[in-house]
Amino acid sequence: MPTESKVDVLVLGAGPAGLMCAQGLKRAGVNVRIIDKRPKKVAAGQADGVQPRTIEVLQSYGLAERLLREGNQMHMVRTGRTADITAPSARYPFEVTLHQGAIEAIFLDSMRELGLEVDRPIIPTALELSHDENELRDPQSYPVKVTLKHLDFGSEGQDDTEIVYAKFVVGADGAHSWVRKTLGIIMDGEQTDYIWGVVDLIPSTNFPDIRNRCAIHSSNGSCMIIPREGDKVRLYIQLSDKDVVVDKATGRVDKEKTKVGPEELLEVARKSFSPFTIEKAGEIDWWTIYLIGQRVAQKFSVHERVFIAGDACHTHSPKAGQGMNASMNDTHNLIWKMTYVLRGWADISLLRTYEFERRKYAQDLIAFDKKFSALFSGKPRTEECQDGVSHEAFLEAFQTFGAFSCGIGIHYSPSSIPSMPNITELKHQSLTSHQTVGMRILPHVFVRAADARPFEIQDLLPANTKWKLVVFVGDIGPGKIKQIERVAKLADDLGKSTGLLKRYEDGVFEILTICATVKECLNYTDLPEVLRPHWSRVLLDDVDMFGRTGGKGYDIYGVDPSQGAIIVVRPDGYVGTVTPLEGVKDLETYFDTFLIRTL
Ligand SMILES: Cc1cc2nc3c(=O)[nH]c(=O)nc-3n(C[C@H](O)[C@H](O)[C@H](O)COP(=O)(O)OP(=O)(O)OC[C@H]3O[C@@H](n4cnc5c(N)ncnc54)[C@H](O)[C@@H]3O)c2cc1C
Repeated sequence: MPTESKVDVLVLGAGPAGLMCAQGLKRAGVNVRIIDKRPKKVAAGQADGVQPRTIEVLQSYGLAERLLREGNQMHMVRTGRTADITAPSARYPFEVTLHQGAIEAIFLDSMRELGLEVDRPIIPTALELSHDENELRDPQSYPVKVTLKHLDFGSEGQDDTEIVYAKFVVGADGAHSWVRKTLGIIMDGEQTDYIWGVVDLIPSTNFPDIRNRCAIHSSNGSCMIIPREGDKVRLYIQLSDKDVVVDKATGRVDKEKTKVGPEELLEVARKSFSPFTIEKAGEIDWWTIYLIGQRVAQKFSVHERVFIAGDACHTHSPKAGQGMNASMNDTHNLIWKMTYVLRGWADISLLRTYEFERRKYAQDLIAFDKKFSALFSGKPRTEECQDGVSHEAFLEAFQTFGAFSCGIGIHYSPSSIPSMPNITELKHQSLTSHQTVGMRILPHVFVRAADARPFEIQDLLPANTKWKLVVFVGDIGPGKIKQIERVAKLADDLGKSTGLLKRYEDGVFEILTICATVKECLNYTDLPEVLRPHWSRVLLDDVDMFGRTGGKGYDIYGVDPSQGAIIVVRPDGYVGTVTPLEGVKDLETYFDTFLIRTL
């Protein structure tokens, strides 16, 4: 008899999407299990670029420090000696490159500390979803039955199957997702003609820009250089369909029949590098050849009980370094929503916003990738080929799409779908003219009122599943009577016995108060108690003791110090809405659409 068990969330696949999901849920105290078919984690190669927004997200879970220590940083692109990142508000204005195995290790080690390991090697063999409407609506039911097969159970008589009943399942099982196929979810889009070889090596070269991201766009073919951790470099080499045999049934490169190996890839690269030279200094670390599909799944979930995330629901080219980033950010979007539903804090319809937000993002990503790929793979403009792609056109495209490709430009839109709560509310957007609702909270340094210690605000808004009310109270220094009265009224509104802070489960909200008053003119105790739940939660828009950091924060967010505003930050760091200090009623209306009231 197979063993049977129950779990709140079963994550299938322990790549970047699955690991992000499992660590975030575990951190939130959710009963989660994660399985993978591989006996061991990825050792080398695969994805390697971590974009600025993803670094911010990892930091919000306390995971960025190791990434920054172990990874390489790309600050400059060779073309025009421009910045690698074109989003000036990026807290980390560079990309980190580190192989996927090392990135997965960061997650695995943090999960281990929380008492969670990946169960492997295991595959799912059957997935059944209940048709019972009541069961599907009840977040505490277990409507998904998954049969698992342990691939390492070899001894006779040992039953290698297992049944797991789950409240929710996340299919994070990669581009050839079993979960997606089992659910019958169709991918829209097509396989492209772009075939890429990838080689990771330590080079011996006289190419002066080997430690910058470069695109070599020559009539001998295109090649992209990505500097990596240590002395390693990755080369993306464009191949033609004459070089590669594609298995028509799977759409994958047939590695048996394809005669191109790492040496041949390096030979193609040499032609692009000419007149410079490139040789390997030692063994090739990792290599692959793969075909690019530009596809998005038609649905990202079935009945909001089985979800797909990461490559399972979108695939695109590797050049702009998006795959791993998009994948981790998918499940970052899902973690808090699932946690709220499982805790009984939010209505299950909140989970619909996952597909709404992440599918739109994936579609934008494919549109971006199509433009970028065509430019990259097109012939360079020369005397003979006037229709070719000029370096200027390439550079312009790179800068136009810069904010989007580094993740900083991710922008979640309001929805008007009746069955789904609208978690992006724009009514008072004008109060924060530089902080766009639907985008991530801008980073900035403020000084703590109690002890003048400077803090990056993003570090005070971690991914701890709480909603943050960031209250810009304006200038409440001596003589600012009108503003002080407005703040006192806000405190009364917030503190009402049936008000915002009392009507949902304890622990939904955290308050952070930011005063446009200099340190000489304010004690943190001047604030009403509800706006200073702890001495550390009052900040000043002021410089530190030596004037080296901080200040001008109200300008950064576009908040008028004589007005103030409340910026509502979602648990994943995106701004859900903005209201005036008199807007507590609006906040109640906003949260009532998806949080379950206890009063
Ligand atoms: C060979 C290869 C080379 C790549 N090269 C690059 C590159 O050069 N640059 C780049 O940016 N991106 C590259 N990618 C893509 C990049 O790795 C992905 O975009 C990124 O890893 C997506 O993360 P994910 O978690 O969604 O999926 P994946 O990283 O694919 O993880 C899926 C996980 O699910 C597991 N799994 C799959 N099927 C099952 C199953 N039936 N049961 C249990 N577990 C299962 C897998 O073992 C894997 O651990 C490459 C991918 C591959 C496969």
